[in-house]
Amino acid sequence: MRYHIWTIGCQMNTADSQRLGSDLERLGYVWTDDADAADVVVLNTCVVRQQAEDKIYGRLGALRPLKAARPDTVVALMGCLVGHKPPPSLRRRFPEVDVFLPPSESRPLVDFLTARAAEDAAREIDREQLAARWTLQDAGPADGALVLPGHERGSLVAAHVPVVYGCNWVCTFCIIPSRRGPERSRPADEIVAHVRSLVEQGVREVTLLGQIVDRYGHDWGASDALPDLLRRLDGVDGLERIRFLTSHPNFMTDRLLDAVAELPKVMEHIEVPVQAGDDTVLARMKRGYTVDGYRRLVDRIRRRIPGVAIHTDIIVGFCGETEAQFQGTYDLLAELRLDKAHIAKYSTRPGTVASKLLVDDVPDDEKERRRKAIDDLQHAVCGAINAAHVGRTVEVLVDGRDKQRWRGRTRTNKLVFFDDPRPLLGRTVEVEITWSGPWSMVGRAAGAPPPRRREVIALAAFGE
Ligand code: SAH
Repeated sequence: MRYHIWTIGCQMNTADSQRLGSDLERLGYVWTDDADAADVVVLNTCVVRQQAEDKIYGRLGALRPLKAARPDTVVALMGCLVGHKPPPSLRRRFPEVDVFLPPSESRPLVDFLTARAAEDAAREIDREQLAARWTLQDAGPADGALVLPGHERGSLVAAHVPVVYGCNWVCTFCIIPSRRGPERSRPADEIVAHVRSLVEQGVREVTLLGQIVDRYGHDWGASDALPDLLRRLDGVDGLERIRFLTSHPNFMTDRLLDAVAELPKVMEHIEVPVQAGDDTVLARMKRGYTVDGYRRLVDRIRRRIPGVAIHTDIIVGFCGETEAQFQGTYDLLAELRLDKAHIAKYSTRPGTVASKLLVDDVPDDEKERRRKAIDDLQHAVCGAINAAHVGRTVEVLVDGRDKQRWRGRTRTNKLVFFDDPRPLLGRTVEVEITWSGPWSMVGRAAGAPPPRRREVIALAAFGE
């Protein structure tokens, strides 16, 4: 019995797929890379932009012949296309799908497969097998601990850990609150158990996830609980690094910034989207802060956390965005010189406030021009930031191999490649940076031979 999970979208989906994989393996399923060979195929979906949604329809289309040839294959649809309250129309829209799973909920598929196994077992009157299935399912960890799926156990170095599900903030462009439901923070004990279990299986770094992660605890009336959670996790033996994302500017307290600065395992890396550099656009997005407020926040983060890297998200071409308003975004990024900007062209999403009350009036070629302008700007900014690393020695946690060389991240989440014959997966290594490009760097590990020049050039061509 084999399963395959196809995942797109945010890191929360990655974490949800991992939990689902773990649950399926408890039922006796084994991972396969090949969807055609799987008995259970799950599509874990994203609808944050039309482009993501289109990918799902393409993938579903590709599964149709498989389902026709092997009707016993179980097809499950999970995530934001399904939503936290799946509408009955889903079954009509996707007749090839057997089970629908709301975001972060593996239960419907576990129940479906258990019921099916029970039917099969009853038919074969194999009560022993039936009892075994139920025992397996009930033996699962209830306290938040996670048994990694087999193909990740021992090789996964950096893992994602949900700490807040859902979102209450309702930015006008965003479909996530309606698909992921209201904000729910996980109890700290459960998160600690989850992280401990990951560390026991070789994980060295965790990234705590929430749509607005700095609102952790707000739903139980705690207005500043994330620093306390970070403090508890900082004490987990064997864990080396902690990150958290995504923060909203309005909830970044000084206590939180001080926790990042003080706690040795919490990395100097903050993800805090600005979305736009114009007050009218921000108000229309209902973000709840001004450009100047964001500017002051960046200043406060930089003062309290020396050496910090700040990442942001940008939407270009939002409803009514004029050339001058776009220029505001461009100028803000040129001024702040942030370490990374995830840039998206606005994509209208049915059901959002913007789709009902505002007009998606920036033509697509203009959105593309604005996206490219910001991309070019960040290319230069990131190039300069990385170039300043050349000759410096940085701490890199090795999380995998890429093109025959080790790949890892600095404390500030910058990508570094280096050559080394030693088995370094999961190890933190001092690396001297010898080459830099805008999106990655190459270096030499302490005590390692110098890289061959030909390879550095080949990688530069590949990576940049
Ligand atoms: N909760 C986070 C972001 C979640 S979605 C926040 O508070 O900002 C991830 C990113 O997708 C967003 O930051 C935004 O830049 C982008 N995004 C969300 N809705 C979008 C839409 N309708 N069109 C284009 N980009 C969108």
